[in-house]
Parts: sequence; C-alpha cells; structure tokens
Amino acid sequence: MLDVRKAAVRGALMGGVLEPLDLERFRPLLAGDEGTVAVKMAFSRDEESRYVIDVAIEADILAVCQRCLEPMPEHLSSESKLAVVWTDEEAVSLPRYLDPLILKEDSCNLWELVEDELILAMKPFNYHETGTCKRKTVSFFDPLIKEDVLEDKPNPFNVLEQLKPGNKH
Ligand SMILES: [Zn+2]
Repeated sequence: MLDVRKAAVRGALMGGVLEPLDLERFRPLLAGDEGTVAVKMAFSRDEESRYVIDVAIEADILAVCQRCLEPMPEHLSSESKLAVVWTDEEAVSLPRYLDPLILKEDSCNLWELVEDELILAMKPFNYHETGTCKRKTVSFFDPLIKEDVLEDKPNPFNVLEQLKPGNKH
C-alpha cells in the first residue's frame, strides 16, 4: 500500500517487472504463467493540484486463442493518466484526458491498480493469425460442418472442388 498524496508531493517514480503469478485477478485470463509485466508509474501534482499517476505497462503474456483454445503470445501495451479522487462527483468532473482512480482512503494498492489496467488492455477475444491457428477457419464459422466431417458423410467442400472446371476426375 502506498500513500498517494505523499508519493505525488515527492514526485515519486516507481517501476518493476511482475509475473502473471503475482497478479491474482489477471492470471485466470491467461493461458499460462509464463510472461512478464513491466510497469512504470510516475506520481505528480498537476496545475489544478490534482494527484496524478502516469501508468505505463508493457506486458508479454500468453492469451488463449478463442478458435483453437491453444496459448498464443500476446503483447499488451497500456498508458494512462489517472487522477486520484475520493468521490464520484469528483470523478465525473475530471477533464477527458484524465481517468479517475477513486480511492476510499489515501493509500492505494498498486498491484490492484496494475491488474485493473491489464484487464482493460486485454482484448476480449484473441485469435491466432490464420495459418498458425490449430483449428481450420471453416469449423470456427460453423461448428456443424466439423460434425459432418467426423461422421462419414461426404464433405460438401470436396464436392465443390470436383465441380470446378479443369479438375479431371
Ligand atoms: Zn488458434
């Protein structure tokens, strides 16, 4: 826990490298514990006497491909400028370039803050590039087609292939 006001007055700079294992809420979104999360935070006061935290995160993690459910390496990059506020009214009155960080007390759990930023930076769905994905695109668009292939029915795509002009059978 860190006293945000004191850190801002001091102009504190903080940084470090975390691992997915350190991040209890973010970890379940990942395909594995390999990876690094590099964090930099700069605390300051702005001209309106707000307490401001500049947060920059560069993370290399393993996301889950939603097509084949295999791990895929993903880079997350996030930069935000947070203003510490203590009430919802203060949060609403902030200028657009500042995101509110609503605190109930003067201290703030920095790991929680990093986790929130990472969860926001994570795409809701991740997919391998076509070609590197373990599952064919066809079954992604229509799972029923895959069932058909598993049974012994003729694959409709093979039929189409035979109908193409120039294919001699
Ligand atoms: Zn995939």
